[in-house]
Amino acid sequence: MLVNNTVKLFTPGPLNTSYAVRAAMCKDIGSRTPECDKLTKDIQSMLREVASCDSSFVPILLQGSGTFAVEAMIATLVPSQGHVLVVDNGLYGRRMAEICVAHNIPHTVLKLSEMEAIKGSDLETAFQNNEQITHLAIVHFETAMGVNNKLPTIQLVCERYSVMLLLDSMSAFGALPIDFGSETLAAVASSSNKCLHGVPGLGIIFVRVSEFEKCDTIRSVSLDIKTQYESLKLIGQWKFTPPLQVMLALRQAIIEYCSDGGQIGRISKYSEIESILIQGLAKFGIQPIIKAEFRAPIIITFSLPHYINFSSLYAYLLERNLVIYPSKISDCFRLGCIGELTIEDANDLVYTIGEFMEESGSHE
Ligand SMILES: *Cc1c(COP(=O)(O)O)cnc(C)c1O
Repeated sequence: MLVNNTVKLFTPGPLNTSYAVRAAMCKDIGSRTPECDKLTKDIQSMLREVASCDSSFVPILLQGSGTFAVEAMIATLVPSQGHVLVVDNGLYGRRMAEICVAHNIPHTVLKLSEMEAIKGSDLETAFQNNEQITHLAIVHFETAMGVNNKLPTIQLVCERYSVMLLLDSMSAFGALPIDFGSETLAAVASSSNKCLHGVPGLGIIFVRVSEFEKCDTIRSVSLDIKTQYESLKLIGQWKFTPPLQVMLALRQAIIEYCSDGGQIGRISKYSEIESILIQGLAKFGIQPIIKAEFRAPIIITFSLPHYINFSSLYAYLLERNLVIYPSKISDCFRLGCIGELTIEDANDLVYTIGEFMEESGSHE
């Protein structure tokens, strides 16, 4: 039996999905069948539309969580003579540096504050100081603290220095625009279970097709997306067992994404939820810790008044089917605005947090 969602996930993904998305999965399909081939093609062409990119890019699908897609992008696309500048202004940036270490990829880490977006000048200085740099690996929306690394600035500097951009846009793709017309954009990684509102299990990597020609080394069998690209192109099939039900769900999720108004529709819905949360929680002294200019309505880090204990708040909300997310900063927590959440859900969360504050004696 498929039932409507009772649990509300104010998390950065996996997130709430629609009934139709979950229902789409109730089906068996064989992997080497025309139906599977069509499903793959459908998703690829729908993704092209979502990205509004032309045929100079190809969306490659890959099994696994988002990190698999980021690792596949970096491990496949950096040639043996390449050198990557990895920007670390949060957890996911650091993970890209870990990936470079694991695959022995020459790289330099640019460590910056986690509380703000990268500045164009920081990037320029890093490029000027190291002429070996061929690629930039950076996170679009740094989900760890909720910081939006402004893409237009990044793309402009990459173009100026002819550095190819490898973008982790996991939590932004579909909600924040990306200029696929930029000539130094090499690849963009995302996944099924963030702003596209699918279920987890599928990585998406948009690759500039001409970048495949530069690949001169295979660092992984299962994560190599050049061979996946060739297999899809030549026989229309995946190298290894595709996550078919996840794909069925994603196709349905993208249909809904488009009928909900695409990127504009999604970001305006997230913005509405964000303002309810920010304005509502302000009444209880719960404030965002990242400045407005660096935020995006995807995930927000809030600080709790010192007399409130996160674990008790978490448990109180969980009992009422409301799931919030911890932060690695103490006395803070995170709220996601993404997924199939409604205005009522956001109001309900604010109300319930208010109830908890009342019961914990907010008038110390
Ligand atoms: C979610 C996310 C990932 C992938 O995390 P997984 O746990 O592997 O799905 C990578 N980068 C960013 C910025 C993310 O938000």
